[in-house]
Amino acid sequence: MRTIEHWIAGKTTSGTGDRTAPVFNPATGQQQAEVRLAAADDVTAAVTAAEEALREWSQTSVSRRAKVMFAFRELVNAHVDEIAELITDEHGKVLSDARGEVQRGLEVVEFACGIPTLLKGDFSDQVSTGVDTFSFREPLGVVAGITPFNFPAMVPMWMFPVAIACGNTFVLKPSERDPSASMLIAQLWQRAGLPDGVFNVVHGDKVAVDTLLDAPEVAAVSFVGSTPIARYIHERATSNGKRVQALGGAKNHAIVLPDADVDFAADHLAAAAFGSAGERCMAVSAAVAVGGAADAVVAAVNERARAVKVGSGRDSDSEMGPVVTRDAQQRIRGLIGTGEDQGATITVDGRDLVVDGHEDGFFVGPTVLDRVTTDMDVYQQEIFGPVLSVVRVDDVDAAIDLVNSNPYGNGTSIFTSSGEAARRFQRGVHVGMIGINVPVPVPMAFYSFGGWKDSLFGDKHVHGPEGVSFYTRAKVVTARWPRTHHASDASFAFPTSK
Ligand code: NAD
Repeated sequence: MRTIEHWIAGKTTSGTGDRTAPVFNPATGQQQAEVRLAAADDVTAAVTAAEEALREWSQTSVSRRAKVMFAFRELVNAHVDEIAELITDEHGKVLSDARGEVQRGLEVVEFACGIPTLLKGDFSDQVSTGVDTFSFREPLGVVAGITPFNFPAMVPMWMFPVAIACGNTFVLKPSERDPSASMLIAQLWQRAGLPDGVFNVVHGDKVAVDTLLDAPEVAAVSFVGSTPIARYIHERATSNGKRVQALGGAKNHAIVLPDADVDFAADHLAAAAFGSAGERCMAVSAAVAVGGAADAVVAAVNERARAVKVGSGRDSDSEMGPVVTRDAQQRIRGLIGTGEDQGATITVDGRDLVVDGHEDGFFVGPTVLDRVTTDMDVYQQEIFGPVLSVVRVDDVDAAIDLVNSNPYGNGTSIFTSSGEAARRFQRGVHVGMIGINVPVPVPMAFYSFGGWKDSLFGDKHVHGPEGVSFYTRAKVVTARWPRTHHASDASFAFPTSK
C-alpha cells in the first residue's frame, strides 16, 4: 500500500506520528493509499522549517520572487494532466473538471506573477517642508493554509501563490481525503527554484490543525471548509492573535424569473447542480422558480438530470463522477429520503443508481426535489451532493427575501432577460458573489473570492487584491533629510505640516 508522506524543508518525511488514514478511489470504492496523520511534533517541524526559510525568502528581491512564480507557472502548466489525474483518482470528479480546477488555480499563480506591480506603494513628495511620506507592505511571516477535499489543487492555490509571492513562507494542511496533488505541487515548487522550507505540506486531522492554530510562529491562517470548522478555526486562531480568513459552507440559490430563457436556464442549472457531483462550494443547490416559471423549469431540469452520464471520472464519456466517501453517499441518500418524508416531491431519484463495472463506487445519481420549503432538512442543510431542490415563490422580491433569510451568503445567481430585475437582485441580496445569467459566479483571480454571513469568518476574501492585503501589512515612513542640524524646528507641540 502506497504511503503519502509529509513534505518538510524540501524533503518527504514520515514524521513521528504513527497514525494514518485511508485514501480511497471513490469510483471503485477501494482503498488505494494511506496518508500520514501528523503528530504535533511533525507540525512543529514544518513550522520551524518555514521560520528558518523566512529569513532568506522575506529578504529576497521582489523581482527574484516573481521569477520563481513564472517558473512555477510553467511547471504547473506542463503538469496539468498529471495533477488532474491525481485529483480524479482521489476525489472522483471527472478529468475535464479536474483540469478546469487546475486551470483556475493557475490563474492565481499568474496573478501572483504580477507581484512587483501589486506591491507598489505610495509616495507623497513634500508633505511638509523637506518631508516626504511613503508606504510599502511587508510579509507577515509564516502563514498556514487548511483546505477542504473538494478542490484539492485550486483551493490551496487560492492561497499559497499570493502568500509566497508576498514574501511569506507557507505550511499547507490539505484534506486528508485527497492529499496527493499537494505533494506533486511541492515538487514543482522545488523545481521552480523555491528555496526549501518556503512551502511545506503536513497531512493530518484535528491534531495537526490545532497545532497550527496554537503555534506562536504562525502569523496568519487561511481556511476553507465547512461552516462549523470555519467558525472554530476563526475563534481559536484569532484568540491566539492571528490574522484569519475562514471560508465556510454554502447554500447557493439560483433564481429563475418567468422572462428567462427556460432551456438556457435549465442547461446551466443542471451543470451547476450536478457538475462535480454537487461538491462545489459554488454549486447551485436551490433553484428558486418565480411565478409561472416553475412547471416549465422543473420539466426542463428533470430532462437534463436524467440525461447526465454518470461514471468513473477516468472515463472520458462521464459528465459526473462519484461523491467522495461512502459516508457522503449514505448521508446524501438519507437526506433525499428525508426530503420526501417532509413533503417534497422527488421528480428525479438518484439514490439507487449503480454504475456498471463500478458497483462498489460511491455514486449517487442526479436528483431533483420539487416543492421544497424552507423548513425541510434538504433546504436547511448543505447537502454537498448532486441534489437540486426547487423552491417556488411568487415574485422577485420574495426570491430576494428567501436568499437573505438563509444563513449562508457565498454565491447566488439570477436568470432573467430583465436588466431592472437583475439590478434589483444584485443590489438587494446579502451575498458575496453574484451571477447574472451566470450560474457559478467564481471571480477571476484578479478579483477576490469570498462569501458573506456564515460563508466567511474574517473580513478579507481570498486571492486578488484582498489576498495581497491579507498576506502583508503596511508601513508608512515619514522621512526628512535636513542639510544641516542648525535648522532644527523641534517643538513640544504635536507636529503639523509647514
Ligand atoms: P471540512 O470542514 O470537513 O474540512 C476542511 C479542513 O478542515 C480539512 O483540512 C480537515 O482536515 C479539517 N478539519 C476537519 N474537521 C476538523 C476539526 N474538527 N478540527 C480541525 N480541523 C478539522 O470540509 P470538507 O468536507 O473537506 O469540505 C467541504 C466543505 O468545504 C463544504 O462545506 C464546502 O461548502 C466548503 N467549501 C467552501 C468553500 C468556500 O469558498 N467558501 C470552498 C470549498 C469548499
